[in-house]
Amino acid sequence: MKRVLFLAFAISTLTCQGQEIKADYPQLTDNNPTTYYTGTPGKNKLTFQVSYSTPVLSYKIYSSGETPAHDPANWVLKGSNDGKKWTVVDEQKDQKFCSRFQEILCVVKKPAIYKEYMLEASTSGKENVIIADVILSDKNMKAGWENFKYPKVVFESLNPDTGGSKIYHDLVQNPDEYVKYHTQKVAEILYYTAGDPMVDVQEIDYTLKDYNGVSAKGGSSPNINIVYSTQHIEKSAKESLYKLDFETRGVLYHELTHGYQFEPKGIGNYGNNKTFWACIEGIADAVRAEAGLFDMSTRKPGGNWMDGYRTTGFFLQWLTTKDPDAIRKFHITVRDLDVWSFDKAIKAVFGQESSIEGMWNEYQEFLKKQ
Ligand SMILES: [Zn+2]
Repeated sequence: MKRVLFLAFAISTLTCQGQEIKADYPQLTDNNPTTYYTGTPGKNKLTFQVSYSTPVLSYKIYSSGETPAHDPANWVLKGSNDGKKWTVVDEQKDQKFCSRFQEILCVVKKPAIYKEYMLEASTSGKENVIIADVILSDKNMKAGWENFKYPKVVFESLNPDTGGSKIYHDLVQNPDEYVKYHTQKVAEILYYTAGDPMVDVQEIDYTLKDYNGVSAKGGSSPNINIVYSTQHIEKSAKESLYKLDFETRGVLYHELTHGYQFEPKGIGNYGNNKTFWACIEGIADAVRAEAGLFDMSTRKPGGNWMDGYRTTGFFLQWLTTKDPDAIRKFHITVRDLDVWSFDKAIKAVFGQESSIEGMWNEYQEFLKKQ
């Protein structure tokens, strides 16, 4: 949600990235998918006033946690400079959200400079429309990723009668699309564009299974498999469907990273070398953290970069405060350095005068001030 600009309406006034904006429906523009605009059956007109002259190039609409019948299915985005004459800039029909709290990203077909935008949205049937968030952007949020090659996804629920499996389907209506969406999001964090040389993932078998655990990835690219525990789903859903969504996406980011990440060279393997293991699990949790799917208040001083998982992952994600591309650059060292080490990786990204110890100590100082 960087690059979020304008978004406007008339009741409350708030400041967004330096732009003063006004909102009639702040629940639509608060980046919080658990607060909704609840409208009427039929056409709903939502206006957004922009206070500066940049064309909207793309936008995202988020489904709510309510049932899919309340999702917007058809919409028109219009622009105006006087609030009277409206010009259609984009139109979408028969849209289906693959899950709850899910975005649909559209590139504006006829961008031009307007002071005000209006979204006219309706459901596919007689239900009232409910929308979680709307984000208008003056960037093309699809840029560089139009040609991403999605893997084939084979979804299976081994224990469809379990509570966890049933709740999963309340959350996810189209599991194949849901997994595919996240493959691209993972690749966007690890790589710069869809054209980058990338680990080739051709098929993902995604299975819900009744067992005492969380999730695991097996196989190796091009064919990987991921299991997700229905018991864990049930536990995560106790608080709310949104909590389940947060957890399910977070776990998926982690496991899918294992499909798309490079593996360090010259230091053995996952099972027999701790540096290899810490690198693999650290990057997977760094990607999850970068996606915003960890409770970052759990970050605490202590530990070591070799501890793996979130101790390493939070550290790697924190490096993006020094360089926004730090995760991508760090990941490229995994492909290029032979023999790979944390210290050589830090030096490759931040210069020969830097070191893993120095960087880690700086991170610890940052954590102590939190
Ligand atoms: Zn892992």
